[in-house]
Amino acid sequence: MQPRTSLDPAISGLAIAATSPALAADSGTVTPVSLAAVLLGLLVALVILALVLRTRLARSQRAINDLARAVERLTQGDLGVAISGAGTGDAEPLADALDRLRLSLRTTASSRDYLSQVIASISDAVLLTRADGTITRANPAAERLLGQGASELRGQQLASLVGEGQRAAFTLGDTKARTRETSLVNAAGEEVPVSYTCAEITADDPALRGYVLTARNISERKIAEQRIRYLARIDSLTKVPNRMQFQHLLQRAIARARRGNHRLALIYLDVDKFKEINDTFGHTAGDVCLETLTDRLRALLPDSSVIGRLAGDEFGVILDNLDPTRNLRAEVVATTRLLQETITEPLQYQGHQLYISTSAGIALYPTDGNNVIDLIRNADAALYRAKRQGGGALEVYHADMNAAAVERLMLKSRLRKAFEKNELRVHYQPKVDLRDGKIAGAEALVRWELTDRGIVLPSEFIPLAEESNLILQIGEWVLDRVCTDYQKWALTPARPGRVSVNLSLRQLKQRDFIGRVQAIYAKHGVAPDALELEITETTLMEDPKRTLHLLHELHRLGLRLAIDDFGTGYSSLSALQQFPISTLKIDQSFVQNATTDHDQATIVALIIEMGHSLKLEVVAEGVESEEQLRFLRALNCDYAQGLLFGRAMAADDFRDLVIDQGGGAGRYRPLFARG
Ligand code: C2E
Ligand code: MG
Ligand code: MG
Repeated sequence: MQPRTSLDPAISGLAIAATSPALAADSGTVTPVSLAAVLLGLLVALVILALVLRTRLARSQRAINDLARAVERLTQGDLGVAISGAGTGDAEPLADALDRLRLSLRTTASSRDYLSQVIASISDAVLLTRADGTITRANPAAERLLGQGASELRGQQLASLVGEGQRAAFTLGDTKARTRETSLVNAAGEEVPVSYTCAEITADDPALRGYVLTARNISERKIAEQRIRYLARIDSLTKVPNRMQFQHLLQRAIARARRGNHRLALIYLDVDKFKEINDTFGHTAGDVCLETLTDRLRALLPDSSVIGRLAGDEFGVILDNLDPTRNLRAEVVATTRLLQETITEPLQYQGHQLYISTSAGIALYPTDGNNVIDLIRNADAALYRAKRQGGGALEVYHADMNAAAVERLMLKSRLRKAFEKNELRVHYQPKVDLRDGKIAGAEALVRWELTDRGIVLPSEFIPLAEESNLILQIGEWVLDRVCTDYQKWALTPARPGRVSVNLSLRQLKQRDFIGRVQAIYAKHGVAPDALELEITETTLMEDPKRTLHLLHELHRLGLRLAIDDFGTGYSSLSALQQFPISTLKIDQSFVQNATTDHDQATIVALIIEMGHSLKLEVVAEGVESEEQLRFLRALNCDYAQGLLFGRAMAADDFRDLVIDQGGGAGRYRPLFARG
């Protein structure tokens, strides 16, 4: 037999034994000596076998230990070191399988780590909860927002972090993931206003179900908003409500009086010869007089009354909650006289004694008017009569004071006739892109020209039309006219951009308003996104729930929506956020004074900033000067309209203006070349 060289050691051990001469096949008889030799041979073979087995076992044991260590590393999350090298021999397939497991674990773990990193780097606070609202995870932004570590937050109920006043309105899980606002309480117990979305995590495994809340701190925006509102409502010199706010407060007072069936009085006060004080002693003296007058009014009047500065030297007072058992007229007259007397007391200014006297006009609710417009107009008429007496006089409104009221009625019936005879016109005021001076669209403004009276302004006749259903007819007619003009322009090279049309509250309240609007643009084949509907803030907030629904419908149809005269209303921008609007139009009163009045400049800047932060386009109205244009461009305002670019013009003129531009800034180039 040939010695086997490449055999397994154990087998070659046996082979050695088999080649022993004692076991040779040709040995013949078995002698005791040869038996002993055989036994010895066997013994040697067994010893060798045992040694070989031991070595083998030791090696397997090492391989198993190596594998055990590798598995240990896996369980500790160390997925980087390959396992294949750990096992040899019989353990090799096991090692390979384990390594495959390691690789697949590594893939899962790296996507999990990636997700964790994503959540950690989101700048908004992210809180994950179980289905019952218990927090399971918080990212670093949430820790910063709430001033608590993730481990402290874990286990708390999400709702317990919501400010107490907001808790009732807070609901977990909003599958539409709409942005809402609430406040969260931080570790210091302060309420932090946030905008948030909360979405449900749906999973097959109930243990994984829950919610994910993303929240953003909006404190700065809230402060800016409050500042805008304050600046827009309060007169900066006397710190009393300005005209706008005063009218708003009057409206509220009337509504309260109507509900409570009580009465109120509106007093108008005008400083006599105020111009003389300014001219003689300077404007600072004039300012001191106005401040003193306000202080004296405040000191004398009950807290429930309202004082407002309506114009330079004109003030208004609302006396509320008047005793119904007393003679209203006599009582208000007595109070007004007392005010006038107190105001006349001399005041010291730089060594001079100044005397201010006032004229007063009074209108009473409900006898002299049951709405803001009538009451104001009548108090004004009474004041006018008082002023004609030279100074210090007082008049209570009387019907014959107001010839204007009669004219108003006449005008109303003429308006109806004019509408029926198709005498109204729609003019277009260009809207200009502030980046390059190109026309980006126009606002449609209705015009009424009377042969004997000239142009009647919409601010005069739209309120008249709004008193009846006439506004519905006018509104539809305007939209129809705009669509007709738009289609005519389409036949020319003019590309006028988007045309905005003003809407009245009454139109929004009309039944099937959406269907009517849709029918009009569809009839003319005008795409809905060529149109923008302008709605004032006040209109929006009249019946927000219903309006919200309507606006979503309009938006769904593809119509764009703009808020007109922004800043003059009383809604918060947050409240407006719920509406699907795309454009904010800054009221012209702010724009016009922005370059001369610091407060107004701040309002404009804040509105633009906030508008942009809400992804809205901002249009400035009433731009009249290059200085205003520069100011608005520096603030990155998007669009502007105003006399600087042209007043509203007939459809053909607007078409020519657009064609003349030839896609560039055209006539406006000089304005933008300098910008
Ligand atoms: P609005 O929608 O805020 O329109 C802007 C007003 O500012 C227009 O007055 C426009 O002529 C005027 N304007 C434009 N640029 C300047 C400027 O640089 N300086 C000044 N001082 N004024 C400027 P208008 O045409 O008298 O309209 C007044 C309001 O009447 C409009 O205010 C709008 O609320 C209402 N209105 C006009 N047309 C319609 C209409 O078709 N339907 C409804 N419902 N309301 C309309
Ligand atoms: Mg408008
Ligand atoms: Mg406007």
